[in-house]
Amino acid sequence: MNPYAGTLKRLQDAFYSGRTRPLKFRINQLRSLSRFLKENRNLLLDTLAQDLNKVTQLDSAFIRKEPYGVALIIAPWNYPLNLLLVPLVGAIAAGNCVVLKPSEVSKSMEQVIAEVLPRYLDQNCFATVLGGPREATLLLKNKFDYIFFTGSPTVGRIVMAAASQHLTPITLELGGKNPCYVDDNCDPQTVANRVAWFRFFNAGQTCVAPDYVLCSPETREKLLPALQRAVTQFYGKDPQCSPDLARIISPKHFLRLRGLLGSGRVALGGQSDEQERYIAPTVLVDVKETDPVMQEEIFGPILPILTVGGVEEAIAFIRKREKPLALFAFSNDSKVVNKVLEQTSSGTFGGNDGFMFMTIISMPFGGVGHSGMGKYHGKFTFDTFSHGRGCLLRSPHLEFINKFRYPPYAPGRQGLLVWLLKHKLSLPCSIL
Ligand code: NAD
Repeated sequence: MNPYAGTLKRLQDAFYSGRTRPLKFRINQLRSLSRFLKENRNLLLDTLAQDLNKVTQLDSAFIRKEPYGVALIIAPWNYPLNLLLVPLVGAIAAGNCVVLKPSEVSKSMEQVIAEVLPRYLDQNCFATVLGGPREATLLLKNKFDYIFFTGSPTVGRIVMAAASQHLTPITLELGGKNPCYVDDNCDPQTVANRVAWFRFFNAGQTCVAPDYVLCSPETREKLLPALQRAVTQFYGKDPQCSPDLARIISPKHFLRLRGLLGSGRVALGGQSDEQERYIAPTVLVDVKETDPVMQEEIFGPILPILTVGGVEEAIAFIRKREKPLALFAFSNDSKVVNKVLEQTSSGTFGGNDGFMFMTIISMPFGGVGHSGMGKYHGKFTFDTFSHGRGCLLRSPHLEFINKFRYPPYAPGRQGLLVWLLKHKLSLPCSIL
């Protein structure tokens, strides 16, 4: 019996009803909180005195952005250079030393990082550790000042557990299943072009690619020929001959993906070639929620289409699952796109487009819940690798000003202290 389940359910229902979203609600609640403090001032002061015998004073402060120290960056194989160097840039900009751990799966890039990169960086400050899970496990036994991990939620849990041993702050950039809702009110060919492009880009081995489509049975029937046209236009009649279609990273990953082709029915593509680690751009239909392809992140050129009754059902479907890294909604009606945006949660959101939000460096990128924690890109990367040190500097002189805060707190002195706090001049908060 979980004694808190009812309370939690009540709050979750309220949250998803949208109650806490309007600005008016937030302002009202904050005003109420302020009233609570004012109307109960004496009660609260007495209670504080009972519990802690405490009178506190807030001071003006400045924030100093400081490097954490020695950071560890662990990267996956799907964009092996980008996912290692983009965090590294922020870590260097913030003033950290860094241990890089590229993926052992993208072997050639691992070699280049190990052999060529050190020639460009100060080797006293930057090091590379090679290897897979065994080496990473040993590496994680050490105490780092920051860990930036990009990879799967499964390994993310392991990395977080290791970080917790040293209470090391951490960013987790993880993956998962990204839903893509397609409304009846859309131009099927436009949607098909966009969805096909960002699902089959890099042979689907992209963390922010749509993992599955949710639409009505009628829209599905319109999307299928449109997707066929898009694939033929992008990759020709035989996509295996296209120089623009990537291959699957390794035989192991190929076999896993080929196994997923057995879910539902192949409506488009479905061909594979083990020798070349080739899997054709594939669309699956009649897929059940319990099928293997819906149990794990696909991370390949396979797109299941599941049918739903409408946007409400799609939202319910999405909310029943873990919070995704990316969520997409396509509709000619902006109200539908906004409804999906407002009633769901995800690391990132694309309305009528794919993962182009990745290219805007003024936007933070990161997951939420099961898809990760923390954010980076552009200035956010610098902030991620910086500790905001709250500082107070006070003159060593003018001690008479401070004497009011020292006990014993006789009534007269306490009154003066309250007056001072009320009339305190607030200094602006500055960042050094
Ligand atoms: P992975 O989790 O298997 O490996 C990532 C890194 O962790 C590799 O360097 C690997 O050597 C290391 N590792 C493996 N086992 C480990 C262990 N036991 N302890 C410590 N480290 C270990 O992920 P992957 O297969 O390389 O990449 C695919 C996953 O990454 C997908 O889930 C994808 O969605 C996700 N991803 C996320 C982003 C993002 O920005 N959020 C970007 C790319 C990929």
